[in-house]
Amino acid sequence: MSKGKAARVQGTQSHGPLPACVEGFTRLQHPVTQSIDGSTLTGAADSQAAIEQPCQEDVLSSAMAPQDGGISVAIPEADVSTDVEAEQAIAVSEAETALPVSAFAAFGLRRELLEGLAAIGFEEPSPIQKAAIPELMLGRDLVGQAQTGTGKTAAFGLPLLERLDAGQRTPQVLVLTPTRELAMQVAEAFNSYAACMKGVKVLPIYGGADFRDQIQHLRRGVQIVVGTPGRVMDHMRQGTLDLSGLRSLVLDEADEMLRMGFIDDVKWVLEQLPAERQVVLFSATMPTEIRRISQNYLKDPAEVTIRQKAADGRRIRQRHLVVNGPQKLEALERVLEAEGSEGVIIFARTKAITLTVAESLEQHGYDVAVLNGDVPQTQRERTIERLRDGRVNVLVATDVAARGLDVDRIGLVINYDIPFDGEAYVHRIGRTGRAGRSGEAILFLTPRERRFLGGLERAVNQPIDAMEVPGNASINQHRLDRLRQKLTTTLQQPVCNPEERALLGEILQRVAQEQSCSPDQLALAALELGLAGKPLLLQGEERWGQSRPGAPTRERDRDRDRGGERRPFNDRNQERSEDGPEDNMERFRIEVGWRDRVKPGNIVGAIANESGLAGRSIGKIRIFDAHSTVDLPKGMPDDVFADLRRLRVMNKELQISRLGS
Ligand code: AMP
Repeated sequence: MSKGKAARVQGTQSHGPLPACVEGFTRLQHPVTQSIDGSTLTGAADSQAAIEQPCQEDVLSSAMAPQDGGISVAIPEADVSTDVEAEQAIAVSEAETALPVSAFAAFGLRRELLEGLAAIGFEEPSPIQKAAIPELMLGRDLVGQAQTGTGKTAAFGLPLLERLDAGQRTPQVLVLTPTRELAMQVAEAFNSYAACMKGVKVLPIYGGADFRDQIQHLRRGVQIVVGTPGRVMDHMRQGTLDLSGLRSLVLDEADEMLRMGFIDDVKWVLEQLPAERQVVLFSATMPTEIRRISQNYLKDPAEVTIRQKAADGRRIRQRHLVVNGPQKLEALERVLEAEGSEGVIIFARTKAITLTVAESLEQHGYDVAVLNGDVPQTQRERTIERLRDGRVNVLVATDVAARGLDVDRIGLVINYDIPFDGEAYVHRIGRTGRAGRSGEAILFLTPRERRFLGGLERAVNQPIDAMEVPGNASINQHRLDRLRQKLTTTLQQPVCNPEERALLGEILQRVAQEQSCSPDQLALAALELGLAGKPLLLQGEERWGQSRPGAPTRERDRDRDRGGERRPFNDRNQERSEDGPEDNMERFRIEVGWRDRVKPGNIVGAIANESGLAGRSIGKIRIFDAHSTVDLPKGMPDDVFADLRRLRVMNKELQISRLGS
């Protein structure tokens, strides 16, 4: 989690004492002896747990003091590390337990959990964790509005683990997730937090996996069940999942469950639970139906909203490019060549498209995997693992298959097909920029789909900048950079073992003697060999996919027929506006286009101002993606022409040129 993020914690009225960590750990509220449901917060009902946590009470007693207040507080993350009392509390903890300093200590989490967190490198709680953990430690219900990637899993996972009763064999915590992938991830996360806790059993249960196997695990006793609604219901109905002793239910990504049609199942599960239970609901968005669930099934819940600051959103650089349908595959290959990062997810609309895209990329030498609804569960798990450890670099997926996918090394998300709505877009791009890293997202739009751009920009509350399909120059530059990088890496970390290297050295010596060549010549020959017959550089056209004057393509004509081009503003009644300029006019090209959001009025205004021409003397204007054409009276003086070249419209130089010249 990045430091210095500010979050807004919004409270419904007053919720009693303000959780101390919300205010930078100054005033942790009283908790060691506070009883929520009869047991103490430390879960130290069994003396063993108490003995194993010698530091805990010290931490709590030195840091905690009762206090009042409602929750409506901005949390500057820096508070966590600068607060004096918190530092003192942590110092006590460190001195007595030799645990690494961790701001998590001030929550009063048991020592084993702190060890687990240290092992996975969690040092600073994220804003959602700061806000939610103290509330959940008290056993309160909670509604959290937070995107994926904010650290919400630990926000509910840690306090629920803290409150676990090691002696109870029936499930105490149930987490419902919309997808199997998310169920597995959440289960894995619980396991990693609880790695140092004894006897904690976490079981993911989802459709597509062996039912009997799940029953056996349930019989042997598990404390935490993470599952998809359908399979959880099956087990409940069959009596193989006993929820009579359940203490906490978490609805994770509740809006996704709604979108996927699970909401009635969720309500059914809620209705079967013991009356005394804690319910935690996390959702990226709060549709009415989800609000209603929170009103009907949660008791006086704490509300925590993590609004991503603009800066957070900007951690993912978002761009779009406009490309005609038939050219999408080639555009994709170009984008991958010029922008490819260490892990890429490409989102496609249908299973068939995932296959087409993957096949094409494979032919171009990429290590590609596909994740769609046809891929069996076991294979999905293997695929995600391969993506995680880098054996596969590009994943082509449909929305459903990739939902909740959490792989830190994803540096680029390509929306090969436009998502259905803003929410889907947010979920898709959220696969990158995880765990505090930065990420890239590129959206492909056909000319017709450009009208949806505004909606997506509103969903992320920031512009999605225009980009060009990378041209040869940029691809070639990337190829050279990559080659240099590979060469450097191989120098530093040789691929061959010492014996093989000795043999290669002999070959070099021998060829150098036979051919009497210099080391440079030899090295060059070796590099060329490494190209394996493929050309190093792309030749030919410099700027790909741009409408070039006088060279209409079929796609462009089709595109125009579909409305891809704006009809000339002063020629609206003329159906056929394709002809050249009128006799007394000359056609010019200017380097500002639809992508720059230019409108005919901007062009007329700027040219009229600069050239002294009356607006009505300016003829047809046609706006294309990256350029426009404008008809101007013949005989433009050279100095006016020179001025117009440098004239800026929409912050771009017009670079006016005569068409056909
Ligand atoms: P989540 O929103 O729970 O899916 O978490 C997003 C990513 O952030 C996961 O890779 C977590 O392992 C990581 N993460 C969550 N909390 C922290 C933390 N406090 N410090 C470092 N990484 C974290």
